[in-house]
Amino acid sequence: MSLIVKKLTMDKTLNDEEMASLLETDCSDSFLFEAADYVRRQIYGTDVYIRGLIEFTNYCKNNCYYCGIRRDNQGLARYRLSREEILACCDEGHKLGFRTFVLQGGEDPWFTDEIMCAIVSEIKSKFPDSAVTLSLGERSFDSYKALFDAGADRYLLRHETASDEHYRKLHPESMDLQNRKECLWNLKKIGYQVGSGFMVGSPYQKTENLVQDLRFLQELKPAMIGIGPYITHKDTPFGSFESGSLKLTLRLVAILRLMFPYALIPATTALGTIAEDGRELGLKAGANVVMPNLSPVQFRRQYSLYEGKICMGEEAAECRACLERRINFAGYQTVVARGDVKIE
Ligand code: SF4
Repeated sequence: MSLIVKKLTMDKTLNDEEMASLLETDCSDSFLFEAADYVRRQIYGTDVYIRGLIEFTNYCKNNCYYCGIRRDNQGLARYRLSREEILACCDEGHKLGFRTFVLQGGEDPWFTDEIMCAIVSEIKSKFPDSAVTLSLGERSFDSYKALFDAGADRYLLRHETASDEHYRKLHPESMDLQNRKECLWNLKKIGYQVGSGFMVGSPYQKTENLVQDLRFLQELKPAMIGIGPYITHKDTPFGSFESGSLKLTLRLVAILRLMFPYALIPATTALGTIAEDGRELGLKAGANVVMPNLSPVQFRRQYSLYEGKICMGEEAAECRACLERRINFAGYQTVVARGDVKIE
């Protein structure tokens, strides 16, 4: 094993200089992936947790420069799922063996605390053996608390970049990194299993920004860490930028597994979009979660965060079966379980 990978495996960290050199070369990749897979097997065996993703609104009040569903993208037909439609997705997902439902949307003020709490508590009462994960963006402490009290178990809020300078290049003035970080700390304080993460290869990103991302995660100690390659959407201000790379994303997945052995790390849809076998490679690099889409097929194309997104046409059952085959082929297996984080 290369010395630097050995040090990362033993100490769960490196100094900034060592981290930067590991990020910038592919010389240690095979050692990294092998070490990450070993660590993941020690804790989670070959289990892969499946999460049913329900993209329930593509309205968003924000205007992040990289995002296909940003407010100013006028070319996009907008939709909201009704409470009944969301419940129907859960019902189908539960029959297919999902025991976590991830409700994800843009920051859509139509979904007030009252409406969201009613949806969460209805899902929890109908499927008491299942976890509810929310991914609704930035909200107030009181809002997060009300949703938690209604039964939500987990919350995903990627910080996207931990550098103030880089954050300013990706977001308009109305958005603020400190507020985003504050939201993450509030979620932790309330008792959620918290997920954070970042894009790999986003415009203007430097190696030092990635090191800052890893340092922020070391402070936050999230239960879940989601990363994926930045993928360009032509109808955004970043329409002419290149997408992020598969290699660097996989390297970071492996580094994250070694730094955070107990984390739940998804092999993201963005990884599967950038390469046909991207998710399988993600699993082999240390990821242990996949999030197939349970949203109604007729709305999937409208949830276009980036271009070329996979799994647009398949019904939930087909998605589930296809993923199962891919996961088995990669040497792992899906389990029917909530898949909570194992605490160190
Ligand atoms: S990244 Fe999130 S907050 Fe930003 S525009 Fe897209 S959906 Fe809205």
